[in-house]
Amino acid sequence: MKNQMPISVAIIGSGPAGFYTADALLKCGEPCKIDIIERLPTPYGLIRGGVAPDHQTTKRVARKYEQTALVDEVNYYGNVEINKDFALDELRQLYDAVVLAVGAPEDRKLTIPGADKSGVLGSAAFVGWYNGHPDFRDLDLDLDISTVVVIGNGNVAIDCARVLLRTPRGMLASDLPDHVGDVIHAAPITDVYLVGRRGPADAKFTNVELREMGELTETVPQMKSDQMPDSIEKTVAILKGRERRLKVRNLNSLAEFAERAADEKPKRVHFEFYAQPVEILGGDRVEGIRFERTEVNDGRPSGTGETFDIECGLVISAIGYRADPIEGAPYDEKQAIIPNDEGRVADGLYAVGWIKRGPVGAISSNRPDGETVAEHIENDFAGGGSKPGRAAFQAALKERGVRSVNFDDWKRIDEIERAAADGTAPRRKFVTVEEMLNALDGKAQAKGD
Ligand SMILES: Cc1cc2nc3c(=O)[nH]c(=O)nc-3n(C[C@H](O)[C@H](O)[C@H](O)COP(=O)(O)OP(=O)(O)OC[C@H]3O[C@@H](n4cnc5c(N)ncnc54)[C@H](O)[C@@H]3O)c2cc1C
Repeated sequence: MKNQMPISVAIIGSGPAGFYTADALLKCGEPCKIDIIERLPTPYGLIRGGVAPDHQTTKRVARKYEQTALVDEVNYYGNVEINKDFALDELRQLYDAVVLAVGAPEDRKLTIPGADKSGVLGSAAFVGWYNGHPDFRDLDLDLDISTVVVIGNGNVAIDCARVLLRTPRGMLASDLPDHVGDVIHAAPITDVYLVGRRGPADAKFTNVELREMGELTETVPQMKSDQMPDSIEKTVAILKGRERRLKVRNLNSLAEFAERAADEKPKRVHFEFYAQPVEILGGDRVEGIRFERTEVNDGRPSGTGETFDIECGLVISAIGYRADPIEGAPYDEKQAIIPNDEGRVADGLYAVGWIKRGPVGAISSNRPDGETVAEHIENDFAGGGSKPGRAAFQAALKERGVRSVNFDDWKRIDEIERAAADGTAPRRKFVTVEEMLNALDGKAQAKGD
């Protein structure tokens, strides 16, 4: 039996990529002591703050992460932020290996004239708000409007539209925060446009999410038949296997939407293709948006010069995410990722998940990143670790007076949130860090204070 020090590993970020890395490290051949460091008191990254509140089944993956967090070798330190409470270089001195799993939390900005008007925002802010992320608690949204335009043709765009259109009853089994439900459900919104630059065959929706738009209680989907391809078979002819099946399903769903009558229900979600935004219209506030028609050749959309306007009171751009730079780590400005070689960034420094690959891929797509980096760490420290890791980190936390939240604390927050929920709602979320810390001090409950 080897007589060696465990490898001390700090994983920064407790989203899927961070947890898959911890899980893979626990299964690797070398003993590891793993500390997961997270800027919020609450763990799980976009599982809590991104996945839509009415998609609770998807959020259940967090139960697996919880099992990892409860293993003896793993400690959780919430409410500790890298770049603020600790510099990356300091952690690299304390730990043998540091894994960056900080995701890509910023919006890719809409850069057309007028994009700075009030009533224009990115999906990161809107999604953060409806998911009760503390960074967006005070987002001031005027939803006394009838029409919303969502720019983007992926599942995030669909989530934004659905959350705006679902009835209060449809949200009963969700964890939509009360202050958000109050605003959305009082809003006189009747029409939401989902607009993409390319054609229906290029949309990135998954079919379950797309079909869900056809099953809403008060909303009917609308699709222009002249934007449908003449033949679905011909459109997918060059595709094979799964990709072909998925495209056919989406095109069939959109073809069904083209048959639905606009007055079938009181609200409408319009799928609008071949249109790129060129200008936000209005005074200080958005009053509309101008689009240019596009045509797509060899997969590339280009403007035709023909324009049209949609009057609206809110524009949400769901055109992708960007990672923030981390001081002490290299940063590729163009791709907004940390440049890496299969997850290796520098000696003892690694990256996984959206900060490594860019903001694409479902939850499970982060698992291989964790496995690859765990393999690198296993090989790089085959003789065991040499740095103090946890003991030194805990001493530094204490010395700096940083109030960290451990996994028991998180379980307490979780318990209070669940106990505060009504009916079929899974939880009533705390939506500020202060509330969470107060609850741990026994000062407040999630309900009503
Ligand atoms: C709106 C939205 C909805 C989605 N819905 C689905 C879905 O329904 N199904 C699906 O399969 N996939 C979905 N995804 C994709 C999925 O969420 C991502 O693949 C996954 O979350 C990426 O994992 P990650 O760990 O890289 O990043 P994240 O999940 O973003 O986790 C990063 C973590 O790092 C923390 N952090 C950031 N900076 C610091 C710092 N300086 N110090 C300490 N901690 C820090 C963050 O607080 C966060 O907890 C969705 C994505 C979005 C944006």
